[in-house]
Amino acid sequence: MTLFSDRNRILGTENAFKIGPHIVTVESRGTPVIKLNLGEPDFSAPPWVKDEVVRQIEMDNSHYCDPKGILPLRTAIADQINRTRGLDVTPDHVCVFPGGKPSIGFAQQIYCDPGDEIIYPSPGFPIYESFIRYIGAVPVPLHLPEDQNFTFTPEQLATLITGRTKLIILNFPSNPTGGAATRDQLEAIAAVIQDRCGEDVRIYSDEIYENIIFDGQSHFSIASVPGMSRRTIISSGMSKSFAWTGGRVGYAVMPTPEEAEAFKNLNINYFSCVPPYNQEGAREALMNPQSEPWMAEMANTFERRRDVIQAQLNAIHGITCQKPGGAFYLFPNIAGLCQRLGVFEAFNSLPAETKATTSPSKLFQMFALYEHHVAVMDRKSFGEIGADELHFLRLSIAADMDTLEEGIRRIGAAGEDVAGFERFMDAGEHLS
Ligand code: PLP
Repeated sequence: MTLFSDRNRILGTENAFKIGPHIVTVESRGTPVIKLNLGEPDFSAPPWVKDEVVRQIEMDNSHYCDPKGILPLRTAIADQINRTRGLDVTPDHVCVFPGGKPSIGFAQQIYCDPGDEIIYPSPGFPIYESFIRYIGAVPVPLHLPEDQNFTFTPEQLATLITGRTKLIILNFPSNPTGGAATRDQLEAIAAVIQDRCGEDVRIYSDEIYENIIFDGQSHFSIASVPGMSRRTIISSGMSKSFAWTGGRVGYAVMPTPEEAEAFKNLNINYFSCVPPYNQEGAREALMNPQSEPWMAEMANTFERRRDVIQAQLNAIHGITCQKPGGAFYLFPNIAGLCQRLGVFEAFNSLPAETKATTSPSKLFQMFALYEHHVAVMDRKSFGEIGADELHFLRLSIAADMDTLEEGIRRIGAAGEDVAGFERFMDAGEHLS
């Protein structure tokens, strides 16, 4: 008998929450860290949202409420989805969660039995992969090539679909790459799904970055392709669109009310309901006419930063960086930098048990943090399966321009610091 279940031992995690203690350690030595690791906008939630939450609390709206989500919010969500995706859903199709995250694991639990296969993007939001084995399903990573700006072709998807495929996860614009698929691409992907998948295969379309899109493009959902809404779960929420990660309000729109009821039942089993005062704040966010221009301004700010920072990254010897079409991340390839700095040699000479806990991009991430005081995320934080030969970092551009430019300067300096990297490896601490 062991304390922890087998299932618990294989549950993955989101490393963005695990790097915090390392940053605290570095800063406790007296050096401030430039934090490019954060997955949340550096804006405050709009005042009309905050005012509504305060007003609701003062009205004592702080009791249990509908586990599916309060009707005024589900109505506002259905209206917004119908307006932006050209659909005809009702509030019965909607379920509200504490953030965009819970419906990822819930969808896996609701639709998949042990042995069923789940196709998900890699690199991708880590929770897609971390949950799959936990529920006994089989992870099938869909690797997103850098030379297609981290989108994928219908042919690539077709090769992964089998008779056991039960769930296909999509995420555009993407965390961690910012990749955004075009309408044409999504139509071609939908055609493959309609051709190869039975009616019970579900598409989980994570659209949480729907309002952070660049270059004059607008968001297009695969659910808008004719015939796809009856297979697609659209997931979104307040965290990114309204810079309100702490409000913990997300939602999903299901193909049928029966499916929304299944999600509701998991809500009841796990947490009963989402705080009603925050749900009223979310309703205000969706309905207030000031919200659209507010979100557009935030997206413009991210776009300006993207242009400057992507160029600066590409100017660093050994780094290539694609131009993301949305979200607020850059995902540079650092293979050349690792080569010059001796990271691959250092990695290859580690003892097998240490090697199993780290990777070349992880070594560079930790070196950059401990010796050059800049925090970023490594490639394997966004899907481990099949990622051994892939060497990338994720940088968040959710910081002001001076901070971002200083962060890039420090990454460049770390890339030149061959002697410092040797010393770091010799010390043998913080390698994973
Ligand atoms: N989906 C993606 C792609 C994300 O990047 C995130 C957060 O980083 C989430 C879901 C979860 O968002 P939330 O904080 O609302 O749970």
